Amino acid sequence: MTARTAKQRIFLGTEADAALRRKRVAIVGLGATGSVQASWLARAGVGHLTVIDRDFVELSNLQRQILYVEADLGQLKAEAAAKRLSEAHSGIELKPVVADLTSGNARELLSGFDLICDGTDNFEARFLINDVAILTGTPWIYAGAIGGEGVVWPLNPPHTPCLRCLIEEPPAGGDVDTCDSAGVLGPTVGIIGSWAAMEAIKVLTGKPPHGDLARFDFWNDERQFLKSPKSRCRFCTGKVTEFLDARWSLKASALCGLEGVQIRVNPPGKLDLAALKQRLETRTHSPWKQAGLMLKGREGEDEITLFADGRALVHGPMTPERARSWYTEVVGC
Ligand SMILES: [Zn+2]
Repeated sequence: MTARTAKQRIFLGTEADAALRRKRVAIVGLGATGSVQASWLARAGVGHLTVIDRDFVELSNLQRQILYVEADLGQLKAEAAAKRLSEAHSGIELKPVVADLTSGNARELLSGFDLICDGTDNFEARFLINDVAILTGTPWIYAGAIGGEGVVWPLNPPHTPCLRCLIEEPPAGGDVDTCDSAGVLGPTVGIIGSWAAMEAIKVLTGKPPHGDLARFDFWNDERQFLKSPKSRCRFCTGKVTEFLDARWSLKASALCGLEGVQIRVNPPGKLDLAALKQRLETRTHSPWKQAGLMLKGREGEDEITLFADGRALVHGPMTPERARSWYTEVVGC
């Protein structure tokens, strides 16, 4: 018996403590709440963690994304997170995945887990997780934080409602506040991430998690417990997975709060970065740098990063429309 989790074992009991070591958890999104959830679950000795994120660490992340330090700036979050988590607990299995969750890869990426933790910052991803949960019977924990408030809601359809029993469709792009429009305090994500990790430990050790949708506003000292919807929606009762079933698409969208565009391909492709490096260097008459699964360079005033899974990030004055045509022209489809 390991001394590492001695205090946890006193509280949970030997069996539950040992059970954690046999569990497999996927954490989608390694930003603020994902950082906190991953930290607690790794330290609790959860046997396998797959940590999924598409982005790299930026300066504005350090205020609240506790897995990263200044030395990680510019690194891929999934890789930096896995490194930090294994420094905290070298005895667990960590699998970093650099990917954007899409209808093309969600099922493959999120199958085979005892629990899926939501560390995302968008509803598109949450509806995909919800579809995988419906399809595979995997419990998941919805966690969201903004400003000084946050929400945690453990879900396990068909035993509980699903996300769509409450909200049928993702809110339209401009309808919801994001961390870019409303801001967020570090302690908010600390509490919400910790709370979600608490519910995760309950789920993993067989204790029922809380059932209501709980929303706490820590800044204004308000608490709400919304009763779960009584009736189940047609999606979870009929195993209808509309988000997973979405067809191929190429989306170019403006990055919130930053000058730039994100391009996503669904289902994800497999770009030949070495070939693209050559093509882009010829096209732009400037060097492009390939590092692992990404290729980075400049065209005019735009700084462009291409990822092996087909995504691209453009920082600069390029509009989404132009980015789309740039992408189809350079990368092809
Ligand atoms: Zn439902």
